[in-house]
Amino acid sequence: MTNETSTNVAERLKLGPRENVNYPIVMKYCGHCTMPIEYCEYYPEYDKCKDWLERNLPDDFERLKIEEEQADADGTDDDKKRQKRGGKGLLRVKKKEDVPKRICVSRAARGKKKSVTVVTGLSTFDIDLKMAAKFFGTKFACGSSVTGDDEIVIQGDVKDELFDVIPEKWADIDEDVIKDLGDQKR
Ligand SMILES: [Zn+2]
Repeated sequence: MTNETSTNVAERLKLGPRENVNYPIVMKYCGHCTMPIEYCEYYPEYDKCKDWLERNLPDDFERLKIEEEQADADGTDDDKKRQKRGGKGLLRVKKKEDVPKRICVSRAARGKKKSVTVVTGLSTFDIDLKMAAKFFGTKFACGSSVTGDDEIVIQGDVKDELFDVIPEKWADIDEDVIKDLGDQKR
């Protein structure tokens, strides 16, 4: 991208005062992260947002900067600030305890006529995947193997049966936590 192009884009996205518009405008949106500018600080690339703001909305940039500095000087909302500063937290991988316990089942085509059934989420119930794969293989008399971190592929379309089979085998799994993802491409 040439400098000229990016300037044009910035020009088009510019949110400065325009004719025939009644001010104040309630929301202003950031050209970098597309969020209302008040939310930029929660965005992992806040620094780039700030660059954008400085170039395109200098007044708001100054205002946000002053607010930030005041908060810095204040020191009272340290905790709050630390959360904001750790903007990357938005993208942080969830700890295992935080992952909702849910199992997903879906069907995927395998060749022209055959299907496989994909089961994910069993490990959120602390189920041993190898053991589970073996159980499915025996139960449905077909191939079944662990294919990912928390994924089992069963050879054959047994998706609908799983809603009965899984709660029957593992008492702490309710049928309601099993989500039917329908047909998926793999
Ligand atoms: Zn932004």
